[in-house]
Amino acid sequence: MKKIIYDLNEKECIQLLEKVRWKNGVFCPHCKSKENIVKNGHVNAYQNYICKNCNHSFTVRTGTVFSHSKIPLKRWFIAVISLDQCSIMNIAEKLGLYYHTAYDLVKKIRKSVFLKEMMEKLSGELVLSHCNEIT
Ligand SMILES: [Zn+2]
Repeated sequence: MKKIIYDLNEKECIQLLEKVRWKNGVFCPHCKSKENIVKNGHVNAYQNYICKNCNHSFTVRTGTVFSHSKIPLKRWFIAVISLDQCSIMNIAEKLGLYYHTAYDLVKKIRKSVFLKEMMEKLSGELVLSHCNEIT
């Protein structure tokens, strides 16, 4: 059964990202190793990992378009699944962003191969009720 994006909290969005990104197991985004990865506390709500291969730490956001973004995952997900159905103006209104911020977000999403994949997978898991729904 599909979940409505608006019903998810940030933690559930993180779990969804982990499920989509690491469907074949956790891997290091720095050296791509799947072995010698150990949990190392949390960074905000994110599980932090250390790769014993290259000694880098990472979370599920590391190396993705979300890495350095202050926008919560839920808003990214809403933007991702809204792309095909809503205008940039709709997305800006929905997310409470300025038009230019929403425009940049949409541009990043359209340029990202990872997000295109993510979009396909998310649309299998999540639904957006309609464009005019405000969070
Ligand atoms: Zn590594």
